[in-house]
Amino acid sequence: MSGNNKYVFNSYVYIPLVLTFVFLLGCFAVALATMTEETKADYTIDKVSSFDLSSKDHEYSYVETQEKDGIKYYVISSQNDSVIASYDDVDSSSSEPEVNSVKTEENGKVAYLTFDDGPSENTGRILDILDEYNVKATFFVIYHKNMEDKYREIVSRGHTIALHSYSHNYKKIYASEDAYFEDLNKISDYVESVTGVKSYIIRFPGGSSNTISNKYSKGIMKKLKKSVVDKGYSYHDWNVDSTDASGNNIDKDVLLDNVKASLTKHREANILMHDTGKTKETTVEALPSIIEYIQSQGYSMERITEDTKPIRHSW
Ligand code: ZN
Repeated sequence: MSGNNKYVFNSYVYIPLVLTFVFLLGCFAVALATMTEETKADYTIDKVSSFDLSSKDHEYSYVETQEKDGIKYYVISSQNDSVIASYDDVDSSSSEPEVNSVKTEENGKVAYLTFDDGPSENTGRILDILDEYNVKATFFVIYHKNMEDKYREIVSRGHTIALHSYSHNYKKIYASEDAYFEDLNKISDYVESVTGVKSYIIRFPGGSSNTISNKYSKGIMKKLKKSVVDKGYSYHDWNVDSTDASGNNIDKDVLLDNVKASLTKHREANILMHDTGKTKETTVEALPSIIEYIQSQGYSMERITEDTKPIRHSW
């Protein structure tokens, strides 16, 4: 009997102990999960770098360091942007893990800055900013008189000069396929005569998914998308819109916020901006912070070439 009593006594002690232990384990797991959610939600990125993980280097492409409540966390992200190994608190007195400099070409994230509708007096200011950050961009130009120097400068300073339209007059260019190509040939010949560059990189006014062209010739975009490619052109739309075309001199913080809102959804980002004069002053003002943000997200910044896989609207 005494043995039985002892057994009963022990289970009264052990069962609550085990339950307490399980409860504490649960609390710990919940706290851990909450912490992960928080770090994902509101971290600030100190560094975005490639991270030496020897054989797995190709899988883990960059590391972000975060600080929360005085504790440093390292968030290691994979190529598909998901956080696969998260937070590891680090004693501030211990040395940091080896973090290499940014190797953006390894994580495959590329951003293309594109400027439409120029050149203008703002183009020079934009070229200066691009030089400051050692960044190359792409300019989809239209015809402007007395701007020969600017067309040439785009080329001589190492950027891509691409074709947008001669007249940018929707009614005229989307009246028929012939009308479109008449306009395209005109800007192509003009750019070649001024810069010596024959460009095969184009952007349709309004983008390939514009519907306004239906007003002038129903279904013309479908035909044009095929015929430009048949003629050897490569057309490029965009997937990040600064929205600087939605009005005159939109607040520069709004332009930055719009880039922030969609950039990281894309591993290959084509960012739409405009280098027209006077009405797009804020694009110039926003450009340094836009470049800094793009770079902070680990993107390499490149100009479009004939080898670039185009970003295109689907519809
Ligand atoms: Zn345009």
